[in-house]
Amino acid sequence: SYVGIHATGFRDFLLKPELLRAIGDCGFEHPSEVQQVCIPQSILGTDVLCQAKSGLGKTAVFVLSTLQQLDPVPGEISTLVICHTRELAYQIRNEYARFSKYMPEVKTEVFYGGTPISRDLEKLKNKDTCPHIVVATPGRLHALVNEKGIRLSNIKSFVIDECDKVLESIDMRRDVQDIFRNTPHQKQVMMFSATLSQEIRPVCKKFMQNPLEIYVDDEAKLTLHGLQQYYIKLGEQEKNRKLSELLDSLEFNQVIIFVKSTQRAKELNKLLCACNFPSIAVHSGLKQEERIERYKSFKEFNKRICVSTDVFGRGIDIERINLAINYDLPNEADQYLHRVGRAGRFGTKGLAVSLVSTKEDEEVLEKIQSRFDVKITEFPEEGVDPSSY
Ligand code: ADP
Ligand code: MG
Repeated sequence: SYVGIHATGFRDFLLKPELLRAIGDCGFEHPSEVQQVCIPQSILGTDVLCQAKSGLGKTAVFVLSTLQQLDPVPGEISTLVICHTRELAYQIRNEYARFSKYMPEVKTEVFYGGTPISRDLEKLKNKDTCPHIVVATPGRLHALVNEKGIRLSNIKSFVIDECDKVLESIDMRRDVQDIFRNTPHQKQVMMFSATLSQEIRPVCKKFMQNPLEIYVDDEAKLTLHGLQQYYIKLGEQEKNRKLSELLDSLEFNQVIIFVKSTQRAKELNKLLCACNFPSIAVHSGLKQEERIERYKSFKEFNKRICVSTDVFGRGIDIERINLAINYDLPNEADQYLHRVGRAGRFGTKGLAVSLVSTKEDEEVLEKIQSRFDVKITEFPEEGVDPSSY
């Protein structure tokens, strides 16, 4: 019977008052479905393997449940979070900062490549600066373990975000396995992604004991309903003109434009800037400090247009993005899902437009539509009603 049922609130999870206060400050009113399903179990220390669609708050599941269980001891790292890109690591560290605002004794650090490892080692060595929570990319974390610069013997929670991406890459998987071996046997393991193929699930479960498993087995359900999706067929050499037309005619808050290589990101960005479009580029060809600066600058709304490689294709959460353009289509359906998921965060409306120029592009477009049961239609000549995205 549904009589007397009330909407679940964050209060019902019996979280620490410091956490509830921070959640209030963030403006979260109700837990999303994935949060309702996972948090009650994850705060008890259960292992979790969780697939849930983009933008519905998977981060808060592990951030809240690890903070809830954290009992900070000076000099002891108890939570480890691994993800595949540096900007995502940086973003997750900021989420920890946001939610631990009223837990002043809790320290979180982020470690990733492209920065001097000596700085990380220094922080870890000193009891006063050694964090309780570490967010890191696999390569740098592995290097820290190799240097014997990080002590993982007190780890109680081990988290992998975008776990399919991390574990599908041979290099990252090997690093993660090594890191994992340096942690205690008894601990909580949690992994998250919007995409978890049948093949990757057993790989993830090898790290776990009797996990709570949440899957979206009907891939059609991964479709974001607030997101309108269109394609435009054209020749490669027509892409620039079309893009400029789209940027002129579409009303967007912020747009992310995906390209397939660093070189193309640089060139397209240069072109856009020359045409007075306020754009920045993000790709792996930049110095790391510059990469983070650009991420921040875009997130803080200093620029409205970002040209990016797949560096920003997953996990990155920028509220104001309501338009995603595939200047180059990705070569996999999964990657399309992640990319367009950058627009329409937390169930908001958004628009995705893909430029389709080759036979391969057309095949990918077909695959996306058959797998995710989404109708990607031709971009209408009369344009799209701005109130609809
Ligand atoms: P995912 O990892 O599932 O793609 P994120 O964790 O990045 O999604 O969350 C997407 C956005 O939704 C973030 O900006 C986050 O702050 C916001 N969010 C998460 N949970 C809630 C909630 N319960 N209420 C309101 N906003 C939320
Ligand atoms: Mg995420």
